[in-house]
This record gives sequence, C-alpha cells and structure tokens, in this order.
Amino acid sequence: MSLERLFSDLRPEVGHCLDRALSGAELGVDDAERLLQLEGAELLALQRAADVARLEDKGDDVTFVVCRNINFTNVCYVGCSFCGFSRHKTEADVFDHPMEVLLAKCRDAVARGATEVCIQGGIHPNKDHTHYREILESIKAAHPELHIHAFSPEEIDFGHRKSGMELSDYLRWLVDAGLGTMPGTAAEILDDAVRNEISPRKLKRDRWVEIVKAAHGIGLRSTSTLMYGHIESPRHVAHHLGLLREIQQETGGFTEFVPLGFIHEKNVLFNHLGARPGSSAPEDLRLVAVARLFLRPWITNVQASWVKMGPKLAQVALMSGANDFGGTLMEESISRESGSDHGENLPAEDMRRLIREIGRTPVERSTTYRVLRRFDDPAEDPPSLEPRVEPELSGPTRSRLAQGRAAR
Ligand code: SF4
Repeated sequence: MSLERLFSDLRPEVGHCLDRALSGAELGVDDAERLLQLEGAELLALQRAADVARLEDKGDDVTFVVCRNINFTNVCYVGCSFCGFSRHKTEADVFDHPMEVLLAKCRDAVARGATEVCIQGGIHPNKDHTHYREILESIKAAHPELHIHAFSPEEIDFGHRKSGMELSDYLRWLVDAGLGTMPGTAAEILDDAVRNEISPRKLKRDRWVEIVKAAHGIGLRSTSTLMYGHIESPRHVAHHLGLLREIQQETGGFTEFVPLGFIHEKNVLFNHLGARPGSSAPEDLRLVAVARLFLRPWITNVQASWVKMGPKLAQVALMSGANDFGGTLMEESISRESGSDHGENLPAEDMRRLIREIGRTPVERSTTYRVLRRFDDPAEDPPSLEPRVEPELSGPTRSRLAQGRAAR
C-alpha cells in the first residue's frame, strides 16, 4: 500500500502531523501527545511513517553493541517503588561484589568479544565517591581497551554530594579515571509530580538535567531514556521527549534514545500503588515510532530494547522507527529481578540472525556509534565466542542423536 493510500483514511490532523514529520518539520509537544494515542489503522500509518523516516535517517543498518552489564551491588536506600532489584543491607540476598569479582566479569566479557562494560549499582549508604573512582581505575588498569559506560545521574548525584567538588570537576575526575560515557537512566519520567509518586527520594528533574548537561559540557556523552507503562500519561511522555530534544539542541551530547517499558511483576508500584501492568505491544511500538518522528534530526539513534520487549517485538519495533538493537548484555539483573523473562544474554550471532530475519544488515558498533564491523555476508560471520552449553535433551531425542553419531 502506498503511503498516500495509507494516509488517505487518517483524520486530517493526524495525516498533517505525519506529513510534516516526513517533510523534515519539527513536531510540537502537542503533536507528540496526539500521536501517542493513535490506534488501529492510524497506528499502522504512524509505524509506516516512522519506518520511512528511519530509512531516510539511518538506512537499513541495524546496530548493536557487544557489552556486559555489571551490577556491583544491590544494596540501595533510595527505595524506588518500581525497582525489584534493590535490597536493604540487612537482607539475606544482598551482594556487594569485591573488585576481584568485577575484574573476573570484565575478563569474561573481553573473552566473549565485549567492547563495553555497563556498570551500575544501588546507592549503598556506606560507600562514597572514592568507590566509583576505584572501580574505574581498577578496570582500566586491567583492560585499557574496554569502554566503561557507567554510573547513572543518581549515582553521579550521590558521589558528587559526598565529594565536595564542583560538579564539572567531579565528572572530570571520573573521566580521568576511565569513565567513557554515562547511562542516561534514572530519568524515568522527567516530571516531579510523577517522580514524587514513583520515587520520592530520587533526584529531581532539574538535578537530572543539571548532571546531564554538566556531563555533556565536559564532553562526557550519555544515552537518554524514558520509563513508561506505569502511571504516566501521554502528556508526560510528550513533555519528556520535548525536554530531551531541548537538551540535545543545546549540547548534542546524547548518543541515542532508549525507551524502557516498565516491568511490573515484582515491585511495589504495580502490586501496591495501582500502576498499570507495564506497556502493551501497541504502546511500545507507538513510542518508538513517535520518538523517531519527534526527535529527528536531533537524536537519530532510537533503540528497541529486547530485554524489555522480548526479541520478537523488538524486531517489529525495528520496523517501526528503531535502528538499534542495544547490547548483548551477557548478564542482566535489573529487569529480571522486576519480573522480565526475556533472558539475560542475547549473543551477537542471535542479534545478527534476528536482524537478518527482517531483511536488514547487522552492524556492530561502539558505545558512541562508531562502526566496528559490518556483517553484509552471513557466510563470513565469525564463529561464536559464547561458552558452549549442551542443551538438555529428552531420552528418545538423546538416543536418536547417539544413533546418528554412531552411523557417521
Ligand atoms: S532504581 Fe536504582 S536508585 Fe532506585 S531503588 Fe533501584 S537501585 Fe536504588
């Protein structure tokens, strides 16, 4: 179906919005709010328009990064109601990894082809800024080639307040020790009314913005994120996107936008505070599509998070405006502890297969979107670097396999 035909059945205000976005005009916050409520045929038209914009902005490449998540402690006193990961320091299943464990995880990541480690943890009341620096220095000393993507604005806020330094000086002090980029998490919804409901002790909107701008100001780039599917409205989401775009227009420091669906099963926000049970599939796709149309040309990397959506829905998101598949992760505990069952590791070979299944080209990237390797020809793919795990087979299947091996 042609775009004209697809657009012909739309309400005029919706068609006008999509036309403007495709002609390169900047959409307003009201436009984003309207698009975030589309359903049925209008949603399909939105997805199609976003896919056309994605092709114009990024071509047919789908990028991914080979990385390992490392959470160094789950002790945290902040108490966000959406978090199933954090523990009080007296609980039985707390962990606070010593440096040898963190270094062993980095070693394993390098052996499995990682170019990045993503390091975040709870806000441990007995630690201070020196702990963050020690982590960076130790990893860089052992693995100078690894890119360290670490410490959310919440962690930066905590360490900075303990340090007594100027914010920019504190960030430079971390960069000097090896910090490469910063995750733009802890953003949730950048609206203090929502934040006061879901995480009253977390840093406020203006502090998040101050930290991100200070980071970008010294050349420390970050991702940008949003957590949706809980108590927020389309208006909150539209304003959040508007704020991210404004920051990017001022600093140019965001590498990408990562929409993160709320995982609801094992936390207070859903079970006791009446939040929605996470986002629906249409909501996931709407947000990816609106992000593509609203953030262009300022933020042109839009990620489909396989760990939140699952790999199959993430494939559809890649056909609805997204151009990046995120990281292999290798070890994911924050979403899993909140109830996500999409796994902890998506090896590079699976990434490549999933990308090719939708007719696109897999491209391994660095954290800052430098192309590291294109995979145009499947016949030239490298062998897997993942440890081999023998599948558990049933009795009859095992016998058939044994007979087959004996016959060879
Ligand atoms: S989201 Fe982060 S800051 Fe909030 S409780 Fe969980 S670990 Fe702590």
